[in-house]
Amino acid sequence: MSLTSHQEKRKRSIDRKEWLFQKLSAYYEKAKLELPDDINSREFAVQPIDYKGYVRHLSFKSEDELRSFLLKNPPMHLYYSSAIYTFPEIDDMEKKGMIGSEIIFDIDADEVPGCESIEQLHACLNCGSLLYGKSIKKCTKCGSQNVIEVEPIPKECILKAGIEAKKLIKVLRKDFGFEKIKIYFSGNRGFHVHPKCDDEWLKLTSEERSMIIKYITGSGVNIERIIGLGESIKGKNMYIPNPKEPGWRGRLGEILYKKMNLNDEKKITFGEAEVLLGEKINLNDIMKMASISIDEKVTVDVHRLIRIPGSINGKLGLPVFEIGESELESFSINCSYSPFKEDEDVKMNVSMQNKEILGIKINSLKGDIIKIPGCLAFLFISKGIADPA
Ligand SMILES: [Zn+2]
Repeated sequence: MSLTSHQEKRKRSIDRKEWLFQKLSAYYEKAKLELPDDINSREFAVQPIDYKGYVRHLSFKSEDELRSFLLKNPPMHLYYSSAIYTFPEIDDMEKKGMIGSEIIFDIDADEVPGCESIEQLHACLNCGSLLYGKSIKKCTKCGSQNVIEVEPIPKECILKAGIEAKKLIKVLRKDFGFEKIKIYFSGNRGFHVHPKCDDEWLKLTSEERSMIIKYITGSGVNIERIIGLGESIKGKNMYIPNPKEPGWRGRLGEILYKKMNLNDEKKITFGEAEVLLGEKINLNDIMKMASISIDEKVTVDVHRLIRIPGSINGKLGLPVFEIGESELESFSINCSYSPFKEDEDVKMNVSMQNKEILGIKINSLKGDIIKIPGCLAFLFISKGIADPA
């Protein structure tokens, strides 16, 4: 007896779900999750396999309790709240009894300067076409909205995001006095920066967090006032701020001193600097270079959900993991970070000729059964680019 196309589709969906369930459940059996000490004061949230929304307001008393939940319900995405609550399980935000909320920063590699309109490979799961573009919502060939992003963000953009993370960490240390700062790869295309907060920081309101963001990004900062270039002052005779100075003056000074390749012991006026550089100093350009690209929404939202370090980010199938500051300079997204190591047989739903994804070359037609590394199999099967074979 042969299956009708509807039955066939249904069977494929069940096979796919089962495959993802097995892989994720096996992963969470052993995964080292970095959990806060106050687990029972945090809200947990998951996005289940093949479910568009989130299941929120989960609460666990211990890591064991969380783990047994994860083995039975292995999620595509797993989060806990930045906020600490008296009643994390209550679904009414007003009644949760918020005690405080950690300060978190999110740097997204497709939002950093130069990568805002970067084009990535997409696939239409309806007609099987490959398309290039930024966040394509509709297939240009068949009009279907069943279009998905196939490849990770290009290396140059993740490196640029790394530079933003380094700039942010420097400001958090120098201007805010944070000593312990952790950086995590988000498992997809960015970095999360978590400074260790004491009680005073935990209590900051959204408005106060928004002011911190404005300071860090430089939005609304009056550069001429910072430097002291009033109309009555002869700008050319003003000294360039020293890189050692605190705040925005130091940040601007650092860029200008670097540009001039000058030791910060030396004092130099704007006039002298322009002669040395052989060009006029454009303060707005310097300001742009000093500003830091961070996602304001994430930091300002006191009820934000944070991806749990050690959990899998279902968008790419890579885990969230801590990364050292020095590693940011050469970081690349690749299969070595994937927990799915075994090769897998998959049946392709899309034709891909001479494409390289996660560092693996693919050359196959729709309907082909191919053997590929586990990391790519997870990515393909989770997105529907291929089915388990
Ligand atoms: Zn299409």
